[in-house]
Amino acid sequence: MLDRKPMIAGNWKMNLNEAEARELVRNVGEGIRGYDAADVLVAPPFTLLGAVREVMAGSGMFLAGQNMHWELKGAFTGEVSARMLQEAGCTHVILGHSERRSLFGETDDVVDLKAKTAALLGLVPILCVGESLSEREEGKTTEVIGRQLDGSLRNFTADGKLPVSTILAYEPVWAIGTGKTATPGQAQEVHAFIRSWIEKNFNTGTAEQIRILYGGSVKPGNAAELMAEQDIDGALVGGASLTAESFLGIVRYRD
Ligand code: PEP
Repeated sequence: MLDRKPMIAGNWKMNLNEAEARELVRNVGEGIRGYDAADVLVAPPFTLLGAVREVMAGSGMFLAGQNMHWELKGAFTGEVSARMLQEAGCTHVILGHSERRSLFGETDDVVDLKAKTAALLGLVPILCVGESLSEREEGKTTEVIGRQLDGSLRNFTADGKLPVSTILAYEPVWAIGTGKTATPGQAQEVHAFIRSWIEKNFNTGTAEQIRILYGGSVKPGNAAELMAEQDIDGALVGGASLTAESFLGIVRYRD
């Protein structure tokens, strides 16, 4: 098994004003100075990208968009393109977050189009999948995850190639923002399924290199036990990414 460097990614969603964002990033930057055991990424709202980019300069942190459109430009009022994200300093983009899927009607087909455009431009997708509580209770977890992967990564499977920089995130919908976390065992089971899906659709080398993040009420108190699992390569963090203390407590889970 290859040594995959963990990534801890903070998804701020529609939170924080500019002053709060600057302070948070300044404090996180100070907290990770000289710390190289994990990649650290933040995904602020679009309007804060410029300020965050300025404050994080030289810290080694990565910047991501929370969403993007699949077209390169045009009459798409309210949308932001992959190139715009790159110009704002983003290296990554979160795609197919469960809130995008459930609140804004994003389908696997839409996520697939976005992932293709992101990859074409060299913007690394952090592509999210996850089952609802009723799907888990009906024993359909891997069936649902498999269907989301088939649909959202179709252009890559058609090509037979998945860039190894691609990041996948397993986020059980029932664990997002609810305080309920999947047990390390539950999460590992799905992560192992996702890795076997990559191996089946691409190859062993790709499966060994792709990072699979876990998301769903990750906190300083549960990060280490989740990260100890073989196929969990980091965390996508919502609520706990909004203060430097809790985010750093997750980033430095090995301390
Ligand atoms: C998320 O939004 O991706 C997430 C995992 O949120 P939370 O950590 O708040 O559950």
